[in-house]
Formats: sequence, C-alpha cells, structure tokens
Amino acid sequence: YAFTLIAALIPRYVRVNTRMGTLEDAIKALISRGFELSDPFSSKQGFRKDAHVPNLLLFHPSTTFRDNPLYISGKIILQDKASCFPALVLSPPATKEGVVIDATAAPGNKTTHLSALMKNKGKLFAFERDQKRFTTLKMMLSKAGCSNVSPINADFLTIDPQDPQFINVTHILLDPSCSGSGIVNRLDHLLETEIEDYADKEDRLEKLAAFQLMMIKHAMRFPNVKKIVYSTCSIYATENERVVCNALQSEEAVAGTFRLAPKNEVLPTWPRRGYPEEMTSPDEAASLVRCLPGEDATNGFFVSCFIRAQDTTGKRK
Ligand code: SAM
Repeated sequence: YAFTLIAALIPRYVRVNTRMGTLEDAIKALISRGFELSDPFSSKQGFRKDAHVPNLLLFHPSTTFRDNPLYISGKIILQDKASCFPALVLSPPATKEGVVIDATAAPGNKTTHLSALMKNKGKLFAFERDQKRFTTLKMMLSKAGCSNVSPINADFLTIDPQDPQFINVTHILLDPSCSGSGIVNRLDHLLETEIEDYADKEDRLEKLAAFQLMMIKHAMRFPNVKKIVYSTCSIYATENERVVCNALQSEEAVAGTFRLAPKNEVLPTWPRRGYPEEMTSPDEAASLVRCLPGEDATNGFFVSCFIRAQDTTGKRK
C-alpha cells in the first residue's frame, strides 16, 4: 500500500532517443497526439521537460505508452529519471576513437542512453551474463537504432582487461544486480530479485555487496580506464557507500590511484548526496548521489563515480 502511494508521486518519465530524432520532433509528435505542455500532475494530458536530465520528459504517473507509435518505433524510451543519471555522469566520449563498456547491460536502458550520448560513434561493448536478458537487450538495441554497440553474452568478470579489443577502454558503466530495494514503480522491469523473498536479508545484502565490489575491482583492472560509474537501485548503505569505501581501499584502487570524482563532476545541482557517516570525509559523501523514493519524484537510486588520479604533469599514473 505504501509503495502504491509513493509510486503515485513519481511521474511517468520518457527519455527521447536522440539517436532517432530531436527533442523538438518528439514534443511536436506528442502534442499532435493530444498531450499538452502543462503541469503533468494537474492534467493527464500534461507533460514538461525535466530540470536535471536533458531530453527527458515527465508525464502524469498513470500515462501509458505501450501503444504509442513513438514508443513502438524506439523514438522514446521509458526510463526512470534516476536511472538516466549514470550515463550522464559517465559522459562517454562522442568520438570515433571512443571505447566504452557497459558491464551489466540488459534490458538496455542505460546502454541506449550511452549510445545516444556517444552520438552513435566509437565502440560500446555491452556485456550481459543472462541469456534471456541478453535477447531482450539485443531487441532493445535494434529498436533504438544503436549501431555503435557490440552486445556480448558473457560474464564481465571473465573478460580479460589485457585483451587487445578492450585495451583502449576509457569509460566503464557498472550497474550490477542489486536488491532492487529502491524500486517503487515496477514499470522499468529492472528488478531481478526482491529482497523480501530472502529469509536472511542481511546475509543476502552482504553477498550482493561482495559481488558488487568484485565488479568494481575488475573494472579498475582495465589498463586505460579513467572513469568508472557504479550505480544501484538500492537504498541500503551496504550496497552503496560501504561498497564504494571498500573499493577505494582495495589493492586495485591503490595501484591504479582511483579516487572519487569531485562533486562538481557528479550532477552538482542534484541536492541529495551520499551518507556522510559512512564515508571518510564530507567531500567524499558530497561526491555521491542518492535518490529517495517518495521524496525526489524518482525511484530510490545511488550513483558514484571513480576517476583515475592525474599526476602534476597531467599524465595518468
Ligand atoms: N543497466 C541495465 C539497464 O539500465 O537497463 C540494468 C542492469 S540490471 C540492474 C543488472 C544486469 O546485470 C542483469 O541483467 C544481470 O543479468 C546482469 N549481470 C549480473 N552480473 C553480471 C556479470 N557478472 N556480467 C554481466 N552481466 C551481469
């Protein structure tokens, strides 16, 4: 019941797939189908642009798009606002030399977002371990017209960072399996597990956290990676701040001199930040992004961004 009440406070978010048309084209098409630029909570036809995420539109929570031609043709993607943050923070290169990894890609919301931000240039490797979810990923990529993506049905942890294919990877997005405890409106189909299903919640969270840490440490082993964004749709510090702290103290982080990106590089205008009591300094907490369901008009979410430190000559260590 509480979830239903909170879900009613979350607008229906629609990301315009700029790979297939401009924001203005989509707005015109939506108006021609009876929508109007007005407050989405006052009217079921109302919609407006989001204040933080470019090319994101907000509609009344009950709006459905399954039969809308824009959705059917891949010109719009149904994606919660918070789930748009990781690709924005990663800010992948839009050059023909760019090489990027989405380590945990299905169903492909963030992969299609990355591909659009890369303007379909360079190369985006999208890994997905689960075969069924991999099929969904491939369908989404083809519907969204993402031609710079190579989907690979493999476990990211088995990928050799020294493989010549991946040696030039500079940016990695890590959105691994989590408890899904932040998801209150179930329309994004991101949930794989429900924490309530597990008798021993703490034990389950610890197992997830160990796996999440392993994924970050593996990403840090790529020799040319300079930016890693780690996100979850969990509200628990065990899967968020604590995983980040452990990653920062890992051998991999020390050897590669990884640290957290400063707040001004991580959605600086977003007000809700990481839990200071979990971090070693207020600056570290400020560099993390949190979303609280019910309070922020999004699902619960967490975003962190690791960068490789530069030495004084500007050369990467
Ligand atoms: N980023 C996706 C999106 O925005 O559409 C959602 C990702 S979902 C939270 C996590 C995905 O990672 C699942 O599809 C899961 O099967 C996959 N996964 C989990 N562990 C993996 C691994 N070691 N290698 C590759 N994929 C993995």
